[in-house]
Amino acid sequence: MWTDLKARLLSAGKVKLTGVRADPYIARSTAGPGAGGTGSVFFSINGRRVRLSLSNTADIELVHLGEGNALLLFDGMEYSGILEKPAFHCPRQAYITITGSCIFQCRYCNVWKNPQKRKSIQEIEEMVESVLPDIDAISLTSGVLHSVLEEETYTLEVVRRLSRFDLPIGVSIYPLSDTSGRLKDAGATEVKYNLETATEALFSIMCPGLCRDDALNALRAAVPVFGKDHVFSNIILGLGETDEEMELCIENLCKDGIIPVIRPLTPGGELASNSSPSPKRIVQTARVHEEKLRKYGLNPKNSLTMCPSCTGCDLIPGRDT
Ligand code: SF4
Repeated sequence: MWTDLKARLLSAGKVKLTGVRADPYIARSTAGPGAGGTGSVFFSINGRRVRLSLSNTADIELVHLGEGNALLLFDGMEYSGILEKPAFHCPRQAYITITGSCIFQCRYCNVWKNPQKRKSIQEIEEMVESVLPDIDAISLTSGVLHSVLEEETYTLEVVRRLSRFDLPIGVSIYPLSDTSGRLKDAGATEVKYNLETATEALFSIMCPGLCRDDALNALRAAVPVFGKDHVFSNIILGLGETDEEMELCIENLCKDGIIPVIRPLTPGGELASNSSPSPKRIVQTARVHEEKLRKYGLNPKNSLTMCPSCTGCDLIPGRDT
């Protein structure tokens, strides 16, 4: 039931939140799907979670009954669950964007379109401290303020300073070929370098000025550094790739020990005219994903940080299926 329901919710993307005011449950993010929008909520049933963007014009209704109890009204059915309070960006994590602007202009990304300042290291430490009892992990992402190397250097210092909290630290930045060793030495636990597209041809359209092979080589180099089940890459489903191209991409990443995170497209910005993948395609891709992970001995349940641990935006095999 959950796999099918989550696929339909991910495909629909938006809900109308009604009932008792739910301010503490609303996340407003500067990165990830929904960045810069009207906010989103995390709806959970029996410990399984989905992130839903809020829209007053959505067909799906989520009624907040008070104290986090919620009722989802969808396709003539009612589903009881809870709203989870986000720490920073998502529940149970301080997922912080270090630099909220970027010199690159990837078409699916909201960071460069909605530029924010770089956070000071002290500010980041204070943010983590403020949610400490409610988190199991720290996750960091960043745009690129000046250059990829300068951003990495700043991120390394952030990671070093946050190590004192003794929590797993996940880092998702644009990598250089030898970034992973430096991140590991600084105290990072996991990395996520996003390839975003299933094919090279789509990448060159979506991310002008960036090189998919650089990120792929950095991912491969990260596996011996961080170990099995601790290296990830987001791949967007619905950018125009075929099912065969997506399957090949998943197979190749898993073969190299990298866990793909398959993210159904949220149409918006420059991609507003694209459609979200259908629930059927989301579930079919999740089945392929599950099979390939098993074939190569990978398990996202062992992840500690970032999206594979959060699961809000994706069907994660082993956690959702
Ligand atoms: S799955 Fe990733 S992008 Fe989505 S809410 Fe969770 S941490 Fe953010």
